This record gives sequence, C-alpha cells and structure tokens, in this order.
Amino acid sequence: MPRPTKVSAAAVRKAAAFIRGGGTVVFPTETVYGLGADALNAKAAARIFEIKKRPHFDPLIVHVSSIRQARTLAHIGPEAEALMKRFWPGPLTLVLPKKKIVPEIVTAGLDTVALRMPADPTALALIKAAGTPVAAPSANRFGSLSPTTAAHAGAQLKNGPDLILDSGRTRIGVESTVLALRDGKFFILRHGGLPREEIERVTGRLGAALKGGRRPASPGQLLKHYSPRAALRIIGKTPVRLRKGIKYGYLAFTSRPAAAVGCFRILSRSGNLAEAAANLFSHLNELDKAGADVILAEPVPARGLGLAIMDRLRRAAAR
Ligand code: AMP
Ligand code: MG
Repeated sequence: MPRPTKVSAAAVRKAAAFIRGGGTVVFPTETVYGLGADALNAKAAARIFEIKKRPHFDPLIVHVSSIRQARTLAHIGPEAEALMKRFWPGPLTLVLPKKKIVPEIVTAGLDTVALRMPADPTALALIKAAGTPVAAPSANRFGSLSPTTAAHAGAQLKNGPDLILDSGRTRIGVESTVLALRDGKFFILRHGGLPREEIERVTGRLGAALKGGRRPASPGQLLKHYSPRAALRIIGKTPVRLRKGIKYGYLAFTSRPAAAVGCFRILSRSGNLAEAAANLFSHLNELDKAGADVILAEPVPARGLGLAIMDRLRRAAAR
C-alpha cells in the first residue's frame, strides 16, 4: 500500500497520470474518500471492484467536473438539469439514463448511470487534470466503514491503489445523497450529505425512500453495509443492561453516557447534525480500534443530516 501523499499541484498531476494510464487513486471528496479510476476504461474500473472486494452487482458513482461532461455520459432532462444547477458541485448523486459510452461494469449492467460533481477542490482538480470522468466508490473494503481520512482508506485497501492523496479529514463525512428519476418523479435511493429538505425546496415532495433488503431498488442498498468490526446496537428508551465479559463502546449524540462503558465518543455536544455526520464514521472507527465488542449507539433526530446518520446506523446494526 502506498503511503498517503499530501495534496499538492504535483501530487494531483501524478494522480491524474495514473488515472489516464488505467491505474487507481484514492482521493478526497467533501463526503468521504473515494477510490477512483477512469470511468471510460472498463479494465481500470474492474480494478476498483477487485481492490474493494466489491460485488459486481453494485454500480459505481461517476464523478465529473462539469455539467457539460455529465452530458457526454447520460441523457439529462430539464428536471435533472435544474438540480445540477442548484446543487452541483456538491453531495448530490443523480441516477440517469446512461449513454453507450459508459462501460457496463461501471453501471453493473444497468441502463442508468450515477453522476456527481464533487465540490472538493482536490477532487475537481484531479478530474480536470485526468481529462476523463472518474468512477469512484468510497475507498473502503466492501461493507466496511467509509473512510473520512486518507489513513483510514489506506488501512482498508492493503494491496491496492497506485497513489493515495491526503488532504486531511473530509468536511461532510457521510456519502452523497442518491436520487433517481422515475416517471418524471425523483426518489431518494440513499440518504446522504445533502439533506432531503433542501432538495424538496426545488423538487417539491420527494417519493418515499426506496427500501433496501433482499432485492434492493438500488443494488448498493444492501441492508447490511457501512459496518464497524464490532457489533452495533441502536439503543431505545429503556436503560441498557450491560452483560459481563463484553467490552462496550458507546456512541452518544450530545452528552456522556450514563452507562458505565469502556469507551465512548460524542457526535456533537451542541446537537448539530452536520457535525454529528462529519464525526460518524471516524468515531465508529475509533470505537473499533479501542477494542469494543459491541457498540451501543444513541439514535439522532430523523431530520436533515440525521436521516443519513440513522440510515448508516441501521445498516451497521443489521445482521
Ligand atoms: P458508493 O459509490 O460506495 O458511495 O455507492 C454508490 C451507490 O450508488 C451504489 O451502491 C448504489 O446504491 C447507487 N447507485 C449507483 N449507480 C446506480 C444506478 N445506476 N442505479 C441505482 N443506484 C445506483
Ligand atoms: Mg460505499
């Protein structure tokens, strides 16, 4: 595994050269770190699945540096264009009818492609310098926590990427919100970094979130996902009874836990959901590292970024 390289103009040029040459690069975005390859090169995209141990039915998000570039990949109607103009660059992924140029492996054989223009300056510079759209899922092993630091990505992808770009902790800390357009109406496929309420100001009421499960509407919406090593339990209103011989970790929303647990982390002392989202994966990772067998997680309010947080906690808790 290459050591993370601090972001610089030279490092971005080197990363872009790897992408152009069919290699893979870990790079920061404002949501989480991504593992990128040339989206138009099927062989390079296949390496992503290999490195992540990601099943081939789980399609990749393609990252672009402009709406114009998005147009080369998908059919974009006026509704989708309005969302791009309002929210790009930013944490919104749109699933749209794909054009032929996008290789099957990128979309897992679907006739749609997921597109996003990231806001992170390093990500944008990389896509521009590469001169090609960049397919990039989160830079973690399949099913594990998404990395919010370069070190966390590197630790999970042992024999993998050609280069790891490091620009510190990601700002948003949870993945993008994924929206699909069906019969002229948008649906949320995955709650994420762009709160539902903000999207609804443009679209009006969104269709209900499509549920994961055995045959998810979106292939990546597996029930079990985004998991720490430890087992995770979302706690309810009744006090938790701790069992002897088990090392508990505790993920609190705003204040220290009353229960006598081995280690705990607080998502946001002020109850700020954006701060809580930014801390979610790194705190879970730290509780893992502290050796917790079971992580008890407090629920957070189900509004704004709280929807994305609760979605990730439920998936982490699924067996
Ligand atoms: P990740 O790249 O790990 O953040 O995950 C990307 C997720 O976007 C996938 O796991 C799917 O849930 C979703 N996605 C990507 N492409 C499509 C598509 N063509 N149709 C539906 N969902 C998609
Ligand atoms: Mg992922």
